[in-house]
Amino acid sequence: MKYILGPLEKAGAKGVEMASGDGVIRRCHPIFATFVGDYPEQVLVTCVPTGECGSCEVERDQLGDDETFPLRDLARVLAVLDGVDGDPTEYKRACKEVGIKPIYHPFWENLPYTNIFRSITPDVLHQLYQGVIKHLIAWVMACCGEAEIDARCRRLPPNHNIRLFMKGISGLSRVTGREHDQISRFLLGIIIDIRLPNGLSSARLLGAVRGLLDFVYLAQYPMHTDETLGLLNDALQTFHDNKQIFVDLGIRTNFNLPKLHGASHYSAYIQLFGTTDNTNTEYTERLHIDLAKDAFRSTNFKDEVSTNDAMA
Ligand SMILES: [Zn+2]
Repeated sequence: MKYILGPLEKAGAKGVEMASGDGVIRRCHPIFATFVGDYPEQVLVTCVPTGECGSCEVERDQLGDDETFPLRDLARVLAVLDGVDGDPTEYKRACKEVGIKPIYHPFWENLPYTNIFRSITPDVLHQLYQGVIKHLIAWVMACCGEAEIDARCRRLPPNHNIRLFMKGISGLSRVTGREHDQISRFLLGIIIDIRLPNGLSSARLLGAVRGLLDFVYLAQYPMHTDETLGLLNDALQTFHDNKQIFVDLGIRTNFNLPKLHGASHYSAYIQLFGTTDNTNTEYTERLHIDLAKDAFRSTNFKDEVSTNDAMA
């Protein structure tokens, strides 16, 4: 990464001349502004420990709170990174203090106008469908019972808009983002009159599910206004206001999940970087499947890295 982005050090600070579509030449300052990746990749580039937020200073046991936390302090981190050539024990301690792992010269260290903690972007595929929605479906099944949910899935009438899961959804293994999307379309419908254990009212369950589903759909709007961003925040708040039902039913003891916490940054991210279709990893994932996963599946799975390559 350092090698690839190296030219940005000079270009970002001094500028380069570029021609725009109308032929006018302007001095532009290309900078490293956003990082598109899934959660493990975000953790990797921001050098924070796994389980923490790459953007803000939230503590692990506050990830489930409906609060906002200050952005990580880039100036402090850079000051600590400067001491990398000093005493290793001291360096390790200083890194821990500012909340990062003791990394040797991260690639963004010298990039001009770059704040790696401000460059993290929303990821609808991995963060919402394969993260938040996946958890939500598991919690709903734990609340209502797998057999009941499966039976209700089978009772959905044939139609042109919703995929039917005639074997239910509890037995699915390795559920894809697309399948989570298809389940989201009827999840609220099949639990609307569900009975909960101990005679508890289902109002909070419906509120929590509806809040998260609304959030996922609003987050994917191809255009936003202050009003729609307000609705996005309201939807997340609706989930937080009702999530206690999962604790009362003994399904969760906390909601300290990094991907759920990530949702709290969405409206700020959208204001900074534009709508989420700009940064959804679904598009690059497709190429990754074609070029890496499919290509590997068509081999004999032996010697996938030739000995010469491995040595080089
Ligand atoms: Zn955060």
